[in-house]
Amino acid sequence: MARTWPGGCQCGQVRYRIDADRVKTLCCCHCRDCQKQSGSAFGMSLIVPREALVLERGSLSVWEHRSARGSLKRAHFCPRCGGRLYDGGEASVLVSVKAGTLDDTAALRPAGHLWTRRAQAWVQIPASALHYEGEPERDDDLNEAYHREA
Ligand SMILES: [Zn+2]
Ligand SMILES: [Zn+2]
Repeated sequence: MARTWPGGCQCGQVRYRIDADRVKTLCCCHCRDCQKQSGSAFGMSLIVPREALVLERGSLSVWEHRSARGSLKRAHFCPRCGGRLYDGGEASVLVSVKAGTLDDTAALRPAGHLWTRRAQAWVQIPASALHYEGEPERDDDLNEAYHREA
């Protein structure tokens, strides 16, 4: 039986569900974009295939911007409360759901930490998690580590 994880924005106007069995990995990203985006020390990205994320209620606003590498990014957020729900590339098959918007976050275990050289000085990265000074070249290790834990 497929496990389903419900989530939504802060005000509740937008609701979604995720097919949890199709989650690729969960990462914390300490880059400046994620700090700005979350208004916090790091972003939490739950990587899932686009079709594993189903919008159940409400509609999303989109902000398009270029990443440092020049690719077009589409940030999806609630038009009412402004809460960011997910990011996706223009044509990418994977999207990055903001994991803190899930209704239940207790079971989440990040498999890795990205951009640790931008991390706030007080942040302690668990030794058990994969960590990268910048962006990893491949996702395989992160995907494997996530499924080992899950
Ligand atoms: Zn909202
Ligand atoms: Zn980031």
